[in-house]
Amino acid sequence: MLGRGWRLPFRPFGVPIELDPTFALVLPLFAWLIGSQVAAYAELLGGLGIVLDPEPLTRGATPWLLGAAGALGLFASVLIHELGHALAARAYGVKTLRITLWFLGGVAQLDEMPRRRGAEAVVAIVGPITSALLSLSLAALLRADAVAGGAAFVVSYLAITNAGLALFNLLPALPLDGGRVLRSLLVFPLGEARATTAAAAVSRAVAIALGVYGFLTFQVFLLAIAFFIDAAGRAEVGAARARRAFEGRRVRDAMTAEPITVDLAWTAGQLRRLRAFRPHTAYPVVTVDGAPLGIVRADDLDGIEDATSAADLMRPVETVRADADLEGTVRQLATTTAGRFAVVDGDGRLMGMLTKADVVRWLQSADAGRPGDGGGATTKRPDPMAD
Ligand SMILES: [Zn+2]
Repeated sequence: MLGRGWRLPFRPFGVPIELDPTFALVLPLFAWLIGSQVAAYAELLGGLGIVLDPEPLTRGATPWLLGAAGALGLFASVLIHELGHALAARAYGVKTLRITLWFLGGVAQLDEMPRRRGAEAVVAIVGPITSALLSLSLAALLRADAVAGGAAFVVSYLAITNAGLALFNLLPALPLDGGRVLRSLLVFPLGEARATTAAAAVSRAVAIALGVYGFLTFQVFLLAIAFFIDAAGRAEVGAARARRAFEGRRVRDAMTAEPITVDLAWTAGQLRRLRAFRPHTAYPVVTVDGAPLGIVRADDLDGIEDATSAADLMRPVETVRADADLEGTVRQLATTTAGRFAVVDGDGRLMGMLTKADVVRWLQSADAGRPGDGGGATTKRPDPMAD
């Protein structure tokens, strides 16, 4: 969903900040929206008891300066909200990989969700609390008459915006903070699987309500948010399902067992014949003891001489133990040079191969929903609600 953004040159609390191109587009848009409606905003603020003389605010380039200040303040507000999440996660010992700012706000990408029960709720609620506190502090500045004129305009705008950020994020829809709080709390009575399903149902209802409201009132932005909530909510449920499927699983559960192996003396001619009968993307090369030496890729076999040996064609492959944690291994798959792992037993003998395709196949198979033979997930039963 999020493209690669621009890394900002500062890291508050050590967290890298990335600016998505969509956010860079939206900032000038907000500056323009605020700047072109300074008089209307001033009138609106008057209704809230914040009396500002619109005349000096709308003179010359002033509205555009106010617009730019408001947009920058909005940027800072979203960033502070996300830093709230990041610091709460840190209290649970969870690292924030990066904070990405995009046109619908910010995303703090955590290394993993804190496992402790209820921790997700705490990390989620800290965001809206941060925004609410920011809003109250800004309102206090106004009440104390600490700011006047243009500064008062920007401070009032940001006080209202932060209150809005807090309220919007409290909507009980995944992936918003309110939805996370709801799911985390539902885990107590319903258990992990049903909590996610129930939270997803509430999310859909909220998304539909928002969408219908946005449609009836011609608010395209609301409509976009409704679609975003619906799509992101589904992705969230998928991720939760995958997390559950991986729980307690070992590499051996998902690997392709007993792959066809070759030795160093095999020639390209022989390998091509093997490929014709038993097509695979790669063939592991093993020693007489069955220890993996490397792989020969099937598509390396074209256009080379028959006599070329497997030793010359071989590419390196990383090994992993069959009893290694599956989820952690899958995460490392992308960083391997061969795009796969040779799976070995305790004596270093090849037991199988693990590729991304193996993992996808395993996730799609019924096996992923059932307790594993060697895993620690034996206390779980298949949940009819999960499929
Ligand atoms: Zn948040």
